[in-house]
Amino acid sequence: MAEPDCIFCKIVEGKIPSRKVYEDDDLYAFHDIAPWAPVHFLIVPKRHIASMAHLTPEHESLMGRIMTLAPRLALEQGCGAYPEGGFRVVVNTGKEGGQEVHHLHVHVMGGPRPWLKG
Ligand code: 5GP
Ligand code: ZN
Repeated sequence: MAEPDCIFCKIVEGKIPSRKVYEDDDLYAFHDIAPWAPVHFLIVPKRHIASMAHLTPEHESLMGRIMTLAPRLALEQGCGAYPEGGFRVVVNTGKEGGQEVHHLHVHVMGGPRPWLKG
């Protein structure tokens, strides 16, 4: 199931250390190693999916769970409440989309401005 050369598969398996934000049977969330914002974590499916371009209808509930988990974890991690606070969700996809790690991941960023990027 895990791709041997995938760093996020290794993080999910605990072979590379990470600062865990959340975990359940299907999802793992952890702090980005190079945060752009005061809060910056990634939510990944535990099963390797290379990118958002690889999604099919069978992934609908998994992606729905990620998108409904994001606001809950954002608040828990210190993002302010909507509308004064809030957060940004980014899914870089493919080379032109700026994707560097080819295991689907949803960036969740927030916290007081200014941010390093974005
Ligand atoms: P992408 O450009 O693929 O959307 O973003 C990949 C993200 O993964 C980057 O923000 C980068 O800082 C983060 N990242 C890359 N390697 C590691 C790692 O080993 N540990 C953690 N926690 N984050 C990583
Ligand atoms: Zn992977």
